[in-house]
Amino acid sequence: MTYNYSGPFTIDYDIIMADKSYNGTVTPKPVLPKELEQLRNVGVTPLQTRVASPCTLNPPIDSDGLSWPSLGARSRIEQTPEEAKGREERIAAAVKTILTELGEDVDREGLLETPERYARAMLYFTKGYEDNIRDVIKRAVFEENHDEMVIVRDIEIYSLCEHHLVPFFGKAHIAYIPNKRVLGLSKLARLAEMYARRFQVQERLTKQIAMALSEILKPRGVAVVIEAAHMCMVSRGVQKTGSSTTTSCMLGCFRDQQKTREEFLTLLGRR
Ligand SMILES: [Zn+2]
Repeated sequence: MTYNYSGPFTIDYDIIMADKSYNGTVTPKPVLPKELEQLRNVGVTPLQTRVASPCTLNPPIDSDGLSWPSLGARSRIEQTPEEAKGREERIAAAVKTILTELGEDVDREGLLETPERYARAMLYFTKGYEDNIRDVIKRAVFEENHDEMVIVRDIEIYSLCEHHLVPFFGKAHIAYIPNKRVLGLSKLARLAEMYARRFQVQERLTKQIAMALSEILKPRGVAVVIEAAHMCMVSRGVQKTGSSTTTSCMLGCFRDQQKTREEFLTLLGRR
């Protein structure tokens, strides 16, 4: 008899009962990729309580070091100089179409090189897809008997809203409580930059930084807060200029312990 409980694991009781060494503890079988695919199709995530997103459906770091890569990330990373040139030209051609459709004269002097320039700018703004997390944290994870909160405030981030393809930018604050391992401080900013230089929503950006750090260091807890202004909001009259959006992601002891969370917020100057 195979009994399915509502979680993502299948427990095969026949095997357990036939095993004479069974000592009362059941080790759930991990989800197989095929089963994960089925879960994905019905929108149920392994944790059941979270919405389906790249953060909950995929591991923070792939076996080849890429972290939540986009569909074309690998082809970008592996491209030859000729392929890179072709990619740039195709983006530029598309930009020319957009400018023409907007009623512009693409042959006037000021716009002559804009499509190519924009193509290069877009490739830069999304360069985070090409980052390999092993290179990002290279030789910067240290064994250290430090168990107090580490906090880096005011990391500048520039990202692109994936709904409007316009910038959102602001500050990220990252904290963690180590469990024998620490990361070089500048790497926290590099980690934030890696995920910011992609098409994002602020909520996911916040969560990805926290989950990746958690995966790298296995710390006692991680907290990430991002405050950002979104051009799609402030420039379209949806809200007044100067409005900013705050998102946070708390993992481990920051999630479980109110005292830790409060200490963090106090250090941020938010309480
Ligand atoms: Zn937007």
